[in-house]
Amino acid sequence: MSTSHLPRDKKDRSVRARKHDLYKSKGKLPEPSVCRECKAVYHKGRWTWVPAPAQSHTLVCPACERMRDNAPSGVLLLTGEFVASHRDQVLGLAHNEEARVKAEHPLARIIKIEDQAEEPVGVIITTTDPHLARRIGEALHHAHRGTFTCRYEETEDLLRANWQS
Ligand SMILES: [Zn+2]
Repeated sequence: MSTSHLPRDKKDRSVRARKHDLYKSKGKLPEPSVCRECKAVYHKGRWTWVPAPAQSHTLVCPACERMRDNAPSGVLLLTGEFVASHRDQVLGLAHNEEARVKAEHPLARIIKIEDQAEEPVGVIITTTDPHLARRIGEALHHAHRGTFTCRYEETEDLLRANWQS
């Protein structure tokens, strides 16, 4: 179907949506399928950690593709005095939250944890799934107060979150 008749903004949105779909599913996945990297199983329309059924197709899941391509869909920036002085505790909580979310949502993973040297100085956590970046920020906010904000950048197809301790 041609989209050339659409107004410019609508056309751009559909292009971005298609780009997003590259990681989302590439259209219909065969079922059942198992990821050859992480062993997540796609069955009955959802990703799970159940053992792969016999005769499963083999593929690479969208989360492993995002890890490989370093293509986050969530970015969480942690800043402030508490992050600097309690780095291990803060990152421990982030890993715990990842484990909790990933157990139910196999495609939600931390891609990288990196220090940001330039202002605002802090730690950046990138994730394969926008909800995971938000969940980690919310968990830190719940445990240690501070300020939590997040916004979805439609133009970048990215959730940007910030927790300031
Ligand atoms: Zn995988």
